[in-house]
Amino acid sequence: MIQSNLNGFKGFETYRDELIQQAKELIKTSIASLLETRSIYGSIRLDLSPLDKKIQQQEYIVQTTNQFGLQERRALSEAESQVVQKEFFGLKDAILSSLWSFDCEYAGSATNLFSQTELEQAMSHITIPKVDISCTHCKGEVTSHTSGYEGLNYVPSNIQYGLNDSKSASVFVLPYICQKCRKEPVVFFVRKDYSSKNGCKLQIVGVSSFPSAHIAKYIPKEEQTHMSNALISNHGGMPLAGIFYLRVFIEQYLHRVTGLDGKFDCEALMEHYALPEGFPKDKLTSLKIVYHELSNSIHQPGSFEETQTQFEKSLQDIDIHFKALAMTEEVNLVSSQSS
Ligand SMILES: [Zn+2]
Repeated sequence: MIQSNLNGFKGFETYRDELIQQAKELIKTSIASLLETRSIYGSIRLDLSPLDKKIQQQEYIVQTTNQFGLQERRALSEAESQVVQKEFFGLKDAILSSLWSFDCEYAGSATNLFSQTELEQAMSHITIPKVDISCTHCKGEVTSHTSGYEGLNYVPSNIQYGLNDSKSASVFVLPYICQKCRKEPVVFFVRKDYSSKNGCKLQIVGVSSFPSAHIAKYIPKEEQTHMSNALISNHGGMPLAGIFYLRVFIEQYLHRVTGLDGKFDCEALMEHYALPEGFPKDKLTSLKIVYHELSNSIHQPGSFEETQTQFEKSLQDIDIHFKALAMTEEVNLVSSQSS
């Protein structure tokens, strides 16, 4: 039985079921956020505060027998609530450290070879959420992916193992198919770590196809590999490596368009970098500034968050630079044809 007779009171099933339901929803949104925003070895921590809030702010109504032998419903006293809350925090721990099993949207539900506890049964049939992720077969374009695929009639069993008294880890398999091309499915291996002290972490520890990044058309083809490596590095939780690749991207681009070789440093390259007439130079961050900001981050790395913020800023500056360049060239071409 799962905590259905807490501290001698009956009637806690509703609160228990609601907590389980809320945990399952949290797991689903967390998986979607993990797969949509992280790449291989990237991880996220679950925000467990909604569960804590529910336990703490819940008004617990119980059915009891009064002194006249009549049934009555009453709210728990403050002291009783404290005891019950402690039990529910224990249930939260049990939910997060239990073996979760999943269903696919497309087809199939989890099979578990081992006999399940009541809590494990309650934590099964979590539907693997739909995600918008980049598809290798669609040239890295971000497309809608549903879980499962035609012909799959079960989700492989999850594996769980204890790490020590208070910690447990498990790895589960999440199969997906791109709704645009419906080509080869992509399968993720996600590891869950839970301890009451450190909370719950989900990490992508394997993926069946090599991740690809979507690169906008106006980014020069010759240097797209460096841009792609930058995006994959940052996505995989290594923004400093991403920053390094962005700098290589700028350097290689400038060498190619100026025709100057590796003997020339960035300052010289920038001086020879000619922008077309009409390019909104004054309104945008120049590549020179972007390059210096990237160099500063490499020579004096800040915290993870600072590095990530710098990566995102530089990426946006570069993106706008090339978008504006493509537009200016197009406008110039149209006006040269019409004149
Ligand atoms: Zn596709």
